[in-house]
Amino acid sequence: MEKYIIVFFSTQETLYAESILKKNRLKYELVPPPEKAKTECGLAIKFSSQLKDEAIRAFTEEGLTVRQLYRQEGDRLIKESLERKEDLAVRKVYLDHNATTPTDPEVLEAMLPGYKDKFGNASSIHSFGREARAAIDEAREKVAKLIGAKDGEIVFTSGGTESDNFAIKGVAYANTDKGNHIITSSIEHQAVLNVCKYLEKSGFKVTYLPVDKYGLIDPEEVARAIISQTILITIMQANNEVGTIEPIEEIGKIAREKEVCFHTDAVQAVGKIPVNVNELNVDLLSLSGHKFYGPKGIGALYIRKGTKIDSLIQGGHHERHHRAGTENVPGIVGLGKAAEISSRDLEKEAQHLINLRDRLSSGITERIGHARLNGHPTKRLPNTLNMSFEFVEGESMIISLDLKGVAVSTGSACTSGTLEPSHVLSAMDVPPAIAQGSLRFSLGKGNTEEDIEYVLKVLQEIVSRLRSMSPLYKPNK
Ligand code: PLP
Repeated sequence: MEKYIIVFFSTQETLYAESILKKNRLKYELVPPPEKAKTECGLAIKFSSQLKDEAIRAFTEEGLTVRQLYRQEGDRLIKESLERKEDLAVRKVYLDHNATTPTDPEVLEAMLPGYKDKFGNASSIHSFGREARAAIDEAREKVAKLIGAKDGEIVFTSGGTESDNFAIKGVAYANTDKGNHIITSSIEHQAVLNVCKYLEKSGFKVTYLPVDKYGLIDPEEVARAIISQTILITIMQANNEVGTIEPIEEIGKIAREKEVCFHTDAVQAVGKIPVNVNELNVDLLSLSGHKFYGPKGIGALYIRKGTKIDSLIQGGHHERHHRAGTENVPGIVGLGKAAEISSRDLEKEAQHLINLRDRLSSGITERIGHARLNGHPTKRLPNTLNMSFEFVEGESMIISLDLKGVAVSTGSACTSGTLEPSHVLSAMDVPPAIAQGSLRFSLGKGNTEEDIEYVLKVLQEIVSRLRSMSPLYKPNK
């Protein structure tokens, strides 16, 4: 079998190369350098042919240039001419849009004046202030339009996490005279789950509803969980890890009948699927700019008129007393622009994303065995595909894909980096060994068919290499 030998000039370079290989879990062997090689080091690095490209890319990415490469065929040693530098450049494919999206150039363009000559404080009464106020009003209108709300029902926040905190704590603290019971689900984002856990410490009672194998919540279970002390139901519209879309409309009807306030974390839904607060029967809805091509650090909470809610931040009279603090005008303008673009392009984009996502999904099933879908087959975000690959670890796949320029994730950005199985997959009863091998691909409007073909090619190679190292994997079973 063909082997490759890479020779570095110095011992130092060779040691560094070894550390890169170890970090990337690439198998190698140390051998004496070929006689004709130019080196001050007594060792060279030998690989199997499948690992050659990956090793060279790993070295290149860490700033180590490969200048001497030999191919070994039996006893013959042939000096390889190295590919041109451009060929080694890694193609970049970003498939982690549920973590964050790139800022739309139209959004950036709209924000720039706010950092230049249109810098006024929206509370000032002079022309600079009035200009800033007008920009905020226009953005509020655009965000309201995107979710079918009235302008006066939108409060700008610093993002999804703050909106969730505001909705849950705000309703909890404002309704202590009515009760202390909150209903949520076991698959919420930490921005909801950890707020509920925090409230439990100060005497609130929380019911965490289970989900079925697709990650769906049963509205009947919500109805059964409501007691006279229930003051809030908070259920996400779409799950960030598996993309399952919850029956919010039905849960909203139940909440309305029982006169319980209903919040939905729509951070992953807004900008990806149509969202209308009246059709959904919600009283509160969280959204976040950076999940739909807007800037980071800006979001909004929709608060239906008449909802009893406390503020989290006390200070000036901004945002109609709901949230004190000088407004982030460029951020708000950017969020407004992102909302406008979404209202305009959502339908067209959703179809593009479904086509690419389904191509990726069928490509994986055709080319890679022992792969299974996590999440609902149809009630799912157009851009999200979560799959488990048996006999491989998600973390190893992510590192290997990253070396090939492909960005994906194992779950929510906040939990990656730990080896704990995802709480969402656990709640869906996915066995831990299978949950460990899961990847979340979340596509965006910039992705192309070529991206998908590239990802399928490198993923197939990576899974097959990682499986070949697994003692549990038997290829023909
Ligand atoms: N809720 C969900 C469902 C999310 O996916 C996220 C982010 O990943 C958040 C809330 C938090 O949003 P932000 O990053 O704007 O604080």
